[in-house]
Amino acid sequence: MFEVDWKTPHLWRKTAPPRPAAAALDGDITTDVLVVGGGFTGLAAALGARDSGVNVVLLEGNEIGSAASGRNNGLVISHHSKASPSEFEAAYGRTLGERYNRMVADAAGVAFGLMQRFGIDAHQVQEGWIQPAHTETTLKRARIFYEEWKAFGANVSWLDRKEATDIIGSPYLGGWKVLNSGHINPFAMTVGLAAALEREGVRIFENARGTAIEKTGDGWRVTTAKGSVTAREVVLATNALTGDVWPGLKRTLIPFKVFQSATDPLPDDLRARILVGNPAVSDMRNDIRYFHYDCDNRLVSGGTHTLWFDEADRGRAKVSQMLGQAFPAFGGAPRMVEYWHGTFAVVPDRRPRLYRLAPGLVFGGVYSGRGVALSLSLGQELGRWAAGRRADDQMPLPVTAMKPVPFHPVAVQIANRMHPWHRFKDGKA
Ligand SMILES: Cc1cc2nc3c(=O)[nH]c(=O)nc-3n(C[C@H](O)[C@H](O)[C@H](O)COP(=O)(O)OP(=O)(O)OC[C@H]3O[C@@H](n4cnc5c(N)ncnc54)[C@H](O)[C@@H]3O)c2cc1C
Repeated sequence: MFEVDWKTPHLWRKTAPPRPAAAALDGDITTDVLVVGGGFTGLAAALGARDSGVNVVLLEGNEIGSAASGRNNGLVISHHSKASPSEFEAAYGRTLGERYNRMVADAAGVAFGLMQRFGIDAHQVQEGWIQPAHTETTLKRARIFYEEWKAFGANVSWLDRKEATDIIGSPYLGGWKVLNSGHINPFAMTVGLAAALEREGVRIFENARGTAIEKTGDGWRVTTAKGSVTAREVVLATNALTGDVWPGLKRTLIPFKVFQSATDPLPDDLRARILVGNPAVSDMRNDIRYFHYDCDNRLVSGGTHTLWFDEADRGRAKVSQMLGQAFPAFGGAPRMVEYWHGTFAVVPDRRPRLYRLAPGLVFGGVYSGRGVALSLSLGQELGRWAAGRRADDQMPLPVTAMKPVPFHPVAVQIANRMHPWHRFKDGKA
């Protein structure tokens, strides 16, 4: 159910600049910090460690960006997944809650800053992210997000019913906007960042899946099919595709599969009435509606599977129907051309995880669908931590032992079949 067809070209891959494949690991090498996983978390961790002045190796089991980081919707959002800033403070306590909220508030700016620092062309557009509300209940919730982030000092604005409806081109009651946010071609960002890391001296190996981890003198040896890497510190950034590389780790997160779909490039008259000013949008439904343009004015959106995993025609039909309902300017259901899917990691409390698995061996990630901006910030912190530049109590998240998801096999099935329940709740909200 959760395999990724990582070789099938998808929209982001087709429109990203080409990048030569990284080297294959053949033999045994040694480094200071080893990062396992070549998504945003792993790439950013490698950067954080390298910027701290240590030698870094990164192992990616498939290709860089082949998983969630290269196939997501591309929304770069400085906001939590569902919770408000005060709810995080209540959960983490004042000091840690504030530190975490600060990282989230700055995360989109950090992401766009990386593109600028390394000259990465990820088709980035920093015209803000809007979260509109479709009911009075969700409007109140949107107002809480807006008020709390404003009080925190984030660059946010409020949109009334007319502004939200006119900008988005779809009827909403109002909403809030985060101005440092936006959208990217995420695959272009992964390969651009990997190329930048190689220029900075990070050694990256693709098709190098870590299959076992064993303790050596004062560090760890990670074995792959054709070699091994021995390092003082190891960062696991394997997210939803975490396998059996460390006992029990995969039972601490739920892989959740979603699909993406895109129209053909829209003509100018539609482009002028839908998403005016090129913002990123995701609304407050449980069966969330989200959209933005790619570099050629395709409208990119997505949805959730229920029972029909991998059925592209049904996925396209669902998004087509949703876009037709959302945007009167289409005058019917638009044709969806592109289709692909991916898997992200979710946990019931929707709080990212930092696990110390053993001395010198850590895991970080799990963003519950809101990881593009956050992984690029949290990943760098992970790298600094591994390089000895951060103590546990300086991290923006609690450093804990593994937290297994209760009744994991059942939880995985339930989470991936919640879609009808979400639609039901949307009807009631
Ligand atoms: C379809 C989709 C749409 C999304 N849309 C958005 C969005 O618009 N905005 C947003 O903020 N978030 C979104 N997300 C979530 C976001 O993409 C993720 O939270 C984020 O990319 C996670 O990055 P990561 O590096 O932690 O994990 P991943 O990108 O999954 O990377 C983990 C990597 O580890 C590798 N790996 C695993 N095990 C091993 C091993 N043993 N050895 C070597 N390598 C290994 C995998 O091959 C993989 O490349 C979406 C996710 C999906 C799937």
